[in-house]
Amino acid sequence: MTRVMNFSAGPAALPQAVLERARDELLDFRGSGMSVMEMSHRGKPFMAVAEKAEQDLRTLMDIPDNYTVLFLQGGATGQFAAIPMNLANGRGMDYIDTGAWSGKAIKEAQKYGPVNIVASSQASGYDSIPDRASWNLDPNAAYVHYTPNETIGGVEFPEIPDVGDVPLVADMSSTILSRPIDVSKFGVIYAGAQKNIGPAGLTVVIVRNDLLERDKGNVPAVLDWALQAKNDSMYNTPPTFGWYLAGLVFEWLLEQGGLESMGKTNQRKAAKLYQYIDNSAFYRNPVEPTARSWMNVPFILADDSLDGTFLNEADAAGLSSLKGHRSVGGMRASIYNAVPESSVDALIDFMADFENRHA
Ligand code: PMP
Repeated sequence: MTRVMNFSAGPAALPQAVLERARDELLDFRGSGMSVMEMSHRGKPFMAVAEKAEQDLRTLMDIPDNYTVLFLQGGATGQFAAIPMNLANGRGMDYIDTGAWSGKAIKEAQKYGPVNIVASSQASGYDSIPDRASWNLDPNAAYVHYTPNETIGGVEFPEIPDVGDVPLVADMSSTILSRPIDVSKFGVIYAGAQKNIGPAGLTVVIVRNDLLERDKGNVPAVLDWALQAKNDSMYNTPPTFGWYLAGLVFEWLLEQGGLESMGKTNQRKAAKLYQYIDNSAFYRNPVEPTARSWMNVPFILADDSLDGTFLNEADAAGLSSLKGHRSVGGMRASIYNAVPESSVDALIDFMADFENRHA
């Protein structure tokens, strides 16, 4: 068996130890005589999995008691609609536009009420975070939405923005669990699982309890946070296998020393890759240095006619999924928690060798 070094943006690499554990207990889950996929979500064995996963996530992220954690279906895209439906009920909503994913969140929210684009980095090709002094926040907005890490552009907010008393809603799909964060600064945090949490099909929503009480109109049951909270995320069948696998990832993260330790490793991984790119005339990263993502590192070859050769040779060297998003071209290395530092070192060595042979 050969496993490649996987730089996919998502669905993305999972820790090998997690996959091995899932394999070992696949056919007979902890003495039940069936796989975790084949059992009722309401039975004891699955309830234990579900509760442990939530507890471990609470420990990892230090989630305060006045927040509810939901394990839902529908992806981050489902939440693009759930957010205005649960929080706004026709009121104005503030959105910060920093790239492709905030753009999609905005487009969805516009179906449900007036959206105020507080700030946008569109004019500079989404290469930075708009200067805080220029933001046009509405103190009466239902909430402020932002995308802490733009997976496609590789643009990340260096800190949590201060938006006063208006609840802050964050699409953390591609940055959750990459380092410690202060959950108490947020009204809602949500993330599709398929980067740092587990397999696609699971969506994690962390919501401050007072926001469950907001007046809302008719919200589809599967997207109704208060209803799902009352039913422990089991109003309908939850994505049981994803929930289980996420639990294994949370255990693995705790064994690695938690988010403090992951954060240090992630910062070091990203710093060495950006440093190599910046010191080379052959590769370039277009993002302003203060807004560079720790998780998604796009890079462009000075001569784009070499793109195909780069990708073929990378594949042959066991470095997989480095093609940039179709909307921007070039390359992108996604270096989530499950991508070890040794894979980043191997990528840099490969890039240096390729540069030597082709520059
Ligand atoms: N937001 C961000 C930041 C993402 O990276 C993605 C997926 N790549 C999405 C939203 C959409 O997530 P999903 O496909 O789970 O709906």
